[in-house]
Amino acid sequence: MLDQNIVRTERLVESRLDEIRNKIEAGRRLSFEDGVFLFQPSVSLHVVGQLADLVCRRRHGRTVYYNLNTHLNPTNICGYRCKLCAFFRSKGDPDAYIMSQEEILKRAEDADQAGCTELHIVGGLPPGIPFEWYLGIVEAIHNQYPRLHLKAWTAVEIAWFARISGLSVKEVLLRLIDAGLGSLPGGGAEIFHPEVRRQISSHKADGKTWLDVHRTAHSLGLKSNATMLFGHVETIYHRVDHLLELRTLQDETGGFQAFVALPFHPVRTAFSHLPKPSAFDCLRTIAVSRLLLDNFDHIKAYWVALGIGVAQTALEYGANDLDGTVRYENIYHDAGADSPDVLSVEELCALIRETGREPVERDSLYRRVRRFGREWELEDNHPDVRNRE
Ligand code: SF4
Repeated sequence: MLDQNIVRTERLVESRLDEIRNKIEAGRRLSFEDGVFLFQPSVSLHVVGQLADLVCRRRHGRTVYYNLNTHLNPTNICGYRCKLCAFFRSKGDPDAYIMSQEEILKRAEDADQAGCTELHIVGGLPPGIPFEWYLGIVEAIHNQYPRLHLKAWTAVEIAWFARISGLSVKEVLLRLIDAGLGSLPGGGAEIFHPEVRRQISSHKADGKTWLDVHRTAHSLGLKSNATMLFGHVETIYHRVDHLLELRTLQDETGGFQAFVALPFHPVRTAFSHLPKPSAFDCLRTIAVSRLLLDNFDHIKAYWVALGIGVAQTALEYGANDLDGTVRYENIYHDAGADSPDVLSVEELCALIRETGREPVERDSLYRRVRRFGREWELEDNHPDVRNRE
């Protein structure tokens, strides 16, 4: 009897999976229920990965992107004190810092000299620091190192700037664009659903605000990325809801470039009692994201958060971008990430080639980069450029 039940359940799973496979092969959109089903442990991770890989290869063939980038976190002081965060410090903590203009420019100089095409700037939000300080960072770096693309300030930060300056989100973005902002990173999205958000980060911008900031950015011609922090107090329903919110906005604006599924690292957070998401969970989440986000070009496997082994494996599970060399990352390392501080271009390329794929260096807007020793230029005639400019 027990055996019969198992066989019946397996047949049901198989037939449901066949329906979804048919949709994917026909290029039809998956539903909320399809997403929830694909997250079930009874559905073979291997099969979900194969489907995601099929979709990924249709878009990108054997190409896997990486970039040369450096991180800059100008301060770790933050008044929001989110429960999920291991990075923030309070003013007066022994390891609290606010970088001087000199230190900030030195970081930008380091990035420039290392041949980076991108500076990724995010940080804490210390009470009492005016919007002009953040604006000045973008302006000063852009003036001295205009070739560095500044992917700066999450939607949470943009919403904070609007609050402290009295400007609208649109005005804040226009001033930042004028100062040299190149695009927005995808952080601060966490999980949009209020049931979860109120438990993990009750004070900062809510899900609707996060989406509105990106909507406004896209309307001004800025590209941005999107993230989802998973593996804490959320359920599968919250994850699928989050992904479909992103898909809906992308239908409306087309302004997202890449999606990044970020596994939660509990060390030194208020949830330090929780386990980290498993490798299986990470791979399934990346694969389902590739399948649900049918209007996103790129799915990143962020090796700092996933660890190198899982990030490399994710290239078989729907991801087509390993992110970058990533110098000076603090946020995940403060939460206990044991990934290296930096990967060389040779290491990134070797990881990609080992999977049978072809590494391609991109800039922040997914334009191909051509190197001549220490010099670099963009490949202007690559189709990515025509599509995105
Ligand atoms: S997650 Fe961001 S907003 Fe929240 S405490 Fe950390 S730095 Fe501040």
